[in-house]
Amino acid sequence: MGEYLLRCVSDGSVQPNHSLSCPHDNSLLRADYRAQQIVPKSLPGIWRFLDWLPVNEPLAGTEGGPVTYKSRGLARELGLESLFISFNGFWPEKGAALPTGSFKDLEAAPTIQMLRERGDCPTLVVASAGNTARAFAHVSILTQQPLLLIVPEKALSRMWTVLPEDKRGGADQLDQLDQFNQLKLIAVRGDYYDAIVVAEKVQSLPGNVAEGGARNIARRDGMGTVMLDCALSLKELPKHYFQAVGSGTGGISAWEAALRLIRDGRFGSILPRLHLAQNIPNAPIFYAWMGREPEAPKSDMFDDVLFNRKPPYAIPGGVKDALQETNGEVYGVTDRQAKEAKRLFEESEEIDILNAPAVAVAALEQAVKLGKVLPKDTVLLNITGGGVARMKEMHSLHQLKPQIVVSQWQEAAEFLEAKI
Ligand SMILES: *Cc1c(COP(=O)(O)O)cnc(C)c1O
Repeated sequence: MGEYLLRCVSDGSVQPNHSLSCPHDNSLLRADYRAQQIVPKSLPGIWRFLDWLPVNEPLAGTEGGPVTYKSRGLARELGLESLFISFNGFWPEKGAALPTGSFKDLEAAPTIQMLRERGDCPTLVVASAGNTARAFAHVSILTQQPLLLIVPEKALSRMWTVLPEDKRGGADQLDQLDQFNQLKLIAVRGDYYDAIVVAEKVQSLPGNVAEGGARNIARRDGMGTVMLDCALSLKELPKHYFQAVGSGTGGISAWEAALRLIRDGRFGSILPRLHLAQNIPNAPIFYAWMGREPEAPKSDMFDDVLFNRKPPYAIPGGVKDALQETNGEVYGVTDRQAKEAKRLFEESEEIDILNAPAVAVAALEQAVKLGKVLPKDTVLLNITGGGVARMKEMHSLHQLKPQIVVSQWQEAAEFLEAKI
């Protein structure tokens, strides 16, 4: 299960498992799975797709996965006949049970499982604008996997977790959590990119291992289950795929999953067209794709999860390749358009969503208006996070607190050394 060769996208050369980069260029690596056809397993959530995940076993206690359903409300508003929503969040009535409410939960479980199967138990270092950190914190608490999270100070409000049943008991401070799982949280003054810079330094300290971001195949193939779940329920590939992106990793993942489904032979032979959306002006992928000078970023955006100053754009196997091969499109969405789209979605589908996926909803509205999507086309809309309000009704959320706030990586390194 999940057997694969790890190949450079650029030249197909096979690289050692667990590599994060190619020796001769900056190409992404991709898993070339032994199973050409996917046979869904009777396992919960993403583990149904074990054939195309880079692990041998499911990770016990992580049972969530994407949920694909046919839209009625939003579809009617937009005049679409075959709009499918991949809901990646918490919505018990639909069977959606991602524990931290975003599709980062699809990435965290296979990444940590892959690390566990590796056997040497290093500390995983993750830089995040919030949702990734929350997802990894959850799996770390569940598994005792040592984890070091590095997040921008502004993202701290997003650093909550719903503890697994057996770990409750009033632990609402990171200090208390730390007693049982070596979970460390460092906040960085600055934005997501500043957090990435600190993480890049800290992850090379002994005993640490980089999570890898877009370079991590477990992360990409975990997110790729969105496309797999859709194609398996429709029995064919959708014609269009809509997603709000920051790094664009989810777009790459959808493209790669579609390539595998085409090779499988049972789901059609045409790649879904990628429609990626960003919140302007913090939209480097949008400006790069349109060949426009980037505008100065703003600090107070409708969505700041989607701002990654250095996306994996022009590297082999990266976002640009994904867009070119799928005849893709990138949309720039204003704060106002995103706000209105959020209201439209929440009213028509009757579930709350995060701000990021509202940007994708706004892009879908634009595409319909411009005739890029026709009423009969099958569309997959990735709602990358939602149901957090629902979750709050049912569970108490525990806020994670940083152990230190730093401006520079040296402060983080000193803090970690003192801890040892
Ligand atoms: C991370 C994130 C995205 C963007 O993901 P990419 O890695 O750029 O594909 C979109 N929505 C939510 C809710 C996210 O957390």
